[in-house]
Amino acid sequence: MLKFLYPHEYISSVFEMTADKIKALDIDTVVFDIDNTLVPYWIKVPDERLKAYFSSLNQAGIKTAVLSNSKEERSKVFCASVNMPYIYRAGKPGIKGFKRLMDKIGSEPKRSMIMGDQIFTDVWCGNRAGAYSVLVKQVSPKDELITAPKRPFEKIVIKMYMRYCKKHGGHYE
Ligand SMILES: [Mg+2]
Repeated sequence: MLKFLYPHEYISSVFEMTADKIKALDIDTVVFDIDNTLVPYWIKVPDERLKAYFSSLNQAGIKTAVLSNSKEERSKVFCASVNMPYIYRAGKPGIKGFKRLMDKIGSEPKRSMIMGDQIFTDVWCGNRAGAYSVLVKQVSPKDELITAPKRPFEKIVIKMYMRYCKKHGGHYE
């Protein structure tokens, strides 16, 4: 039930998803959500640890990009400091923004991974697009007003997902 909302993987932090792990999945592109996936919503730019992480992926030949539902300014400022392509007001869980990003960077959904902190936006978008979806624990317990009401429902889906994983092993496929 609700399998279309289940991520392929659920991790505590983006740093767990190393270049080696990504390459072993035959994935060449990682699409990141920004808010509460990489940084809390009030932090404007990536810190040194994130910068080093992005370059470790890039050096391994993995493309990195941002897909955000926020306003242009948010992605623009964040991505400028790491020279990353982005799509803003992406309309996740719709997949138009995702497709636009794929065209922009010359990637294919089936060889791409989406990492995000929200089931109903990031994971659902990735699953619909045919990408590998990774749910990341939110970096801060503080959510924006628009996100907070969705969390209780997410918790229910995550519980179901965990139960499903216990039964069927780590991944849902
Ligand atoms: Mg987010």
